Amino acid sequence: MIPRRPIAVLPPEISQRIAAGEVIDRPASVVRELLDNAIDASAAEIRIELREGGLELIRVGDDGCGIAPAEVELAFRHHATSKISSLDDLLTLRTLGFRGEALPSIAAVAEVEMLTRDEAHDSGMRIVLRGGEVVTCTRAARQRGTTVTVRHLFYNVPARRKFLPGGRGESLLVGQLVRRYTLGHPSLRLSLILDGRLSFRSSGRGSLDTAIADVYGSTVASCLLPIGPLKIGSTTVRGFLSGRAMTRPGRDHVTLIINGRWATCRGLLAAIESAYRPYLPRGRHPIAVFVLDVPPSELDQNVHPAKTEVRLTREQEVAAALARAIHDLLGRAPVHPPDIDDLSYAGGQYRLPMPRRRLAERFETGWRVTPGDELTPDRLRDLHVLTQIHESLILAEGERGIFLIDQHRAHERIIYERLRRNGEHGVSGQALLEPVVLELKPHQARVLEERLSNLEELGFSCQRIGGRDFLVRAVPLVPLQESMAVHIQFLLEEAAREGEGWREQLLASLACRAAIRRNRPLERSEMEHLIHDLAETSAPAICPHGSPLIMHLSRGFLQRQFDW
Ligand code: ADP
Ligand code: MG
Repeated sequence: MIPRRPIAVLPPEISQRIAAGEVIDRPASVVRELLDNAIDASAAEIRIELREGGLELIRVGDDGCGIAPAEVELAFRHHATSKISSLDDLLTLRTLGFRGEALPSIAAVAEVEMLTRDEAHDSGMRIVLRGGEVVTCTRAARQRGTTVTVRHLFYNVPARRKFLPGGRGESLLVGQLVRRYTLGHPSLRLSLILDGRLSFRSSGRGSLDTAIADVYGSTVASCLLPIGPLKIGSTTVRGFLSGRAMTRPGRDHVTLIINGRWATCRGLLAAIESAYRPYLPRGRHPIAVFVLDVPPSELDQNVHPAKTEVRLTREQEVAAALARAIHDLLGRAPVHPPDIDDLSYAGGQYRLPMPRRRLAERFETGWRVTPGDELTPDRLRDLHVLTQIHESLILAEGERGIFLIDQHRAHERIIYERLRRNGEHGVSGQALLEPVVLELKPHQARVLEERLSNLEELGFSCQRIGGRDFLVRAVPLVPLQESMAVHIQFLLEEAAREGEGWREQLLASLACRAAIRRNRPLERSEMEHLIHDLAETSAPAICPHGSPLIMHLSRGFLQRQFDW
């Protein structure tokens, strides 16, 4: 248990410098503040009860340290806190609260009852406040811990009460909140009771993967890949994330837990989103939980009074490292055929490998990826080519089992990365034997015109010669089967496509056209060459369009399938 200071009112010169603002604006924010207090009191078990979405009743009970009788009234005074006593304390802050504003703000707009007892006293206290005024404060029995009951929220702020949505919406919001706390505090046993019925319970088993199983179910949890711990300066990041095997239609399942608190951090979320983009089907989003441990001095959580939007002083560095790790993990994860054992036996009982419909996950079982099987350069170089199959797949054997490699996609990946490298170094392209004149649609011509110098870097030499006509003299150097001229119209149209990511798209298209086709016989040496070159790429498991290119049949998988 964190040793606790007595509660004291912060002097004005401190309280004035802490971001203030409306903290209590709806039942969910009451729940959040009461949960924070219970966690700061080192509770192991917290029970949250709501009636009518919290408008009638919110009750949060904990088994934490409780409050000494002499401090009970003080706890409801503005800027009264046991968590900081100077601004310097903010630099080493490890508690969720520190403003001393929650209890008085709640008490001002509701009827509040607190029953609490600390370790040092035989009996506890019950205090009742209404509209901020103490109604009673008497001795009462309780085990160590605190229960806060909030009734008739906003009874004296009719405007606010009127504009709150119905109970169901608020209950959903509180459900989401409690699940976020579960991810942030895997050792806590949280239960949520809505209108008398248990709606959610976390097991408190203590590790992040068990907390994820509590929130998303064990089937989802078993499909996530561990990442980290990454050390970035004095920041540590670890987590679990889904690959293509498990996606959701909405963006809101990337969870950041920063120093124990669910948080949003725009820079990090944007980096995660764009790191994922090449690996997920269009319109699908990942499930991921990242837990960051940041030195309090490098974390600015004073941005917003509700404390959810944070900034890191080394945000860019952390974002870049995170993006690289995601790229490494997903780009090196081969696909596996669905494995009975992986999906159906979870948490000690057999389950159908079916998503819970409410969560709308999409399983693509063929995309099962397994931690520890990443395709490192060495593992790829050590593969022994056995033969070609259907003139399209390379069959190879390695220490970890059998691998099927799609020759076309492997070659695409190799060419794509070469083109990108050349683009970064501004390598000039190959001159066409005869320059080609092409006519584009007006909007395409407009977009292309703006990108001519970017295209130059990639190896295109292209100029506008009036109207919608462009003259192409050179194109990036790729090993083409047919003459390049056949493809130029298509490529320029790709280059003129609106929106972000056009470069990657263009290079992927170019790579696709240049890559060895399927249904083409290959010599053993060609296959060996291909795998060797693939080993040098940054994402050998995924083609530039995001599709898998290596399937792995592990020894364990074969053993299970044959029942050896
Ligand atoms: P803050 O959490 O910012 O300090 P609050 O108004 O939320 O301010 O709470 C005031 C004080 O009351 C806290 O600093 C803490 O000492 C005490 N307190 C509130 N809730 C609890 C609880 N559940 N268990 C123990 N102490 C609590
Ligand atoms: Mg608090």
